[in-house]
Amino acid sequence: MQRRNLLKAVAALPLLALSPARPARPAATATALRRVRPGDAGWPTAGDWQKLNDAVGGALLPVHALFSACESDRNSAACKDVLANIRNPFYIGDQPAGTQVSGWLDGWTPAPSAYVLRARNSADVAAAVNFARERRLRLVVKGGAHSYQGTSNAPDSLLVWTRAMNQVTPHDAFVPAGCGDKVKPTAAVSAGAGAMWIDLYDVVTTRGGRYVQGGGCTSVGVAGLVQSGGFGSFSKGFGSAAAGLLEAEVVTADGRVRTVNACADPDLFWAIKGGGGGSFGVLTRLTLRTHELPQFFGAAWGKLQAQSDDAFRRLLARFFEFYPTSLFNPRWGEQVKIGSDNTFEISMVSQGLDARQSTEAWRPFFEWISAAPDIDILDRPDAGAKPARHWWDIAGNRSMIPDKRAGAAPHHGWWEGDQDQVGAFLHGYDSVWLPVTLLEGAQRSRLVDALFAASRYQEVELHFNKGLAGAPAEAIAATADTAINPVVTAAFALAIIANGEGPLYPGMGRTPADAATAHADARAVDQASAQLRRIVPDAGSYVSESNYFNAAWQQEFWGKNYPRLRAVKERYDPDGLFIVHHGVGSENWSADGFARLRD
Ligand SMILES: Cc1cc2nc3c(=O)[nH]c(=O)nc-3n(C[C@H](O)[C@H](O)[C@H](O)COP(=O)(O)OP(=O)(O)OC[C@H]3O[C@@H](n4cnc5c(N)ncnc54)[C@H](O)[C@@H]3O)c2cc1C
Repeated sequence: MQRRNLLKAVAALPLLALSPARPARPAATATALRRVRPGDAGWPTAGDWQKLNDAVGGALLPVHALFSACESDRNSAACKDVLANIRNPFYIGDQPAGTQVSGWLDGWTPAPSAYVLRARNSADVAAAVNFARERRLRLVVKGGAHSYQGTSNAPDSLLVWTRAMNQVTPHDAFVPAGCGDKVKPTAAVSAGAGAMWIDLYDVVTTRGGRYVQGGGCTSVGVAGLVQSGGFGSFSKGFGSAAAGLLEAEVVTADGRVRTVNACADPDLFWAIKGGGGGSFGVLTRLTLRTHELPQFFGAAWGKLQAQSDDAFRRLLARFFEFYPTSLFNPRWGEQVKIGSDNTFEISMVSQGLDARQSTEAWRPFFEWISAAPDIDILDRPDAGAKPARHWWDIAGNRSMIPDKRAGAAPHHGWWEGDQDQVGAFLHGYDSVWLPVTLLEGAQRSRLVDALFAASRYQEVELHFNKGLAGAPAEAIAATADTAINPVVTAAFALAIIANGEGPLYPGMGRTPADAATAHADARAVDQASAQLRRIVPDAGSYVSESNYFNAAWQQEFWGKNYPRLRAVKERYDPDGLFIVHHGVGSENWSADGFARLRD
C-alpha cells in the first residue's frame, strides 16, 4: 500500500504573499500560575524524586536525547545502534526520548523531558499526576510518539510514558461499567493505552477474525489516535476510531482514576473521543467496539501522467465524474495523489469486495485511461483483493516491513509505504476537509480547478477514508456523537498537503536542507492549501494532521464543539495540568506550557 511520501523533492515554485502566516503567540502578561523548571527554586529535590521513584517501583527513568550517544562519541556502539535503527518506527517508539517525527521547521524540536515515568498501571500514572500537580511541574504524556505537532514532547517536563501498558484483551459481550441494561452487550477489545494499532489488529483480526476501527499506520498509539478522532484505511465503512470507543480508564488532574463511558462522566467520555490528546487526563485503558470482519480487503493502484496541463485537467474531471458513481460508498478508502508534474497516483483500498468486484468497480475509469491518447501510464492500473484476515498478518506480507530486532514481537511490522514518514522533519503540512457538495453537478468543475491550482504548488493527497460522507448511517451517527469537527461527516475526503526531509534529529549529524529551500517548501504547502480553502471557506482541518501554525485551530479542529470542550476542560483540569500545542485550553498558556497567560 503506497502512502504519502513526505520526502518528495520540491521544485522552485512561484511565491504568493499569503497566509496562513506564522502567528506570534501573545506575550506572557499577568501570569496566574507558573510551572517550575530544573534549577528553579521550587524544583523537587533529589530526595523528592527518589520518593516518587520508590512509590512507582523504580519506574522513573533518566532520559537523554535520542542522539545523545552520538553527540558524545560518534564511534560508540550506542551511536551506531541508534543510527542503524532510526528508520524503524518500533525502535523509535521504544526509546524514552523517541519521537516519530524529527521536528517541524520554525515549530518544534525534539528535546528530552527532565524525567520519564515508564508507567506500568494506573496507580503509577496517578502518582505522577499528583506529583506534577503538587510540585507545579510541566506534565506531558506519550504513547506511540506519532504526534506531528510535537505534543508528546516537552523539555524540562515530567513525561508519563504509557509504552509498557500494552495488554490487549478481546471480549465477547462487553457492557460499559454502570450502564447495566441501558446498553446491549457488544463484542469489544480492551487495550492498555500504550498499545499500538498493530497489537490490536493482531489480536482482533489475525487471531480473532474480527475487525476494530483503528489507524492506518501500524505503530500509532491507540490512545493518541482515538483522542484525535482517528481514521484507518477502512473508515469509510466503519467510521472514526473515536466513534468505536465504549469506555476508557482515565487519570484526571485531581489524581482520580475514573472509568468513563456513556453512563459515567459522559462529558469527559465525549471529550476524549476526538477532543485532542494530552488535554483532559491520562488514558490508561480503552475499550473499543469490534465488528464482523468482511471476507476481503483489497486495493487499487496505478500511476498516470498527463502530457499537458489540459490533459491533466481532463483526467481530473473524468476521475471526479467516475468517483461519485463507482467509489463514493463504504467500500473504498485511502488515497489518490495529484502531482505538480501532472501525475495522478491511485493508492486506494476496498473492503467487502473480491478481486473481480474490485476490478469491475474501476473498469470504466481504466477503460477511459486506455483510450486517452494524452495520458501516459507509469504504473499499470489494476485492482485486487485478499482474505481480510491476513491484511495485517506479517507472515508472507510483501507490503510490510517486519521489526527484525532481537526480541521484537513477531507481529510487529510497518507498511512499506509509511517508511518515508519515519523520522520525517516537516517543512510544511496542512489538511482541509472537502465537502461532498463539491462532487455535485456544476461544483465539480470548481473542485477540479482548485485541485489543479493547488497541485501547481505542491502535491495534493486526497484521503477518502478521512471524510465520512458516503459512510453507513450508523458510522456517521456514531462520529456525530464525538468531539471531532462535525464537518467530517459531510466531507467526502480530507486533502493533505505536506513536504519535508529527514530524518533530521538533533545530534544526528545530518546537514539539513538550506533554509531558503525549506522555507520555500513551507510556503508551497500554504499556497496549495490556500487554493483549496478558496472554495471551502469554512474548511475544517484534522487536528492530528494539520498545520502547526494554524491560527484558527479552535474552529478548524473542532468547529461548534469547541465551547463544549472548553467547558469539559474547565471542569476536569481547571489549573491546566494537561496543556499541549493547540490543544483545548492552550490559548491561556505560553507556547512552552509553563506560564498561564490569563484566566
Ligand atoms: C507516520 C504517521 C502516520 C499516521 N497515520 C495516521 C492514520 O493513519 N490515521 C490517523 O487518524 N492519524 C494518523 N496519524 C496521526 C496520529 O493519529 C496522531 O498523531 C496521534 O495522536 C498519535 O498518537 P500516538 O500515541 O502515536 O502519539 P503521541 O505523540 O504519543 O501522542 C499524541 C498526543 O496524544 C497524547 N496522548 C498519548 N497517549 C495518551 C494517553 N494515554 N492519555 C492522554 N493523552 C495521550 C499525547 O500527549 C499527545 O498530545 C499519523 C501520524 C504519523 C506520524
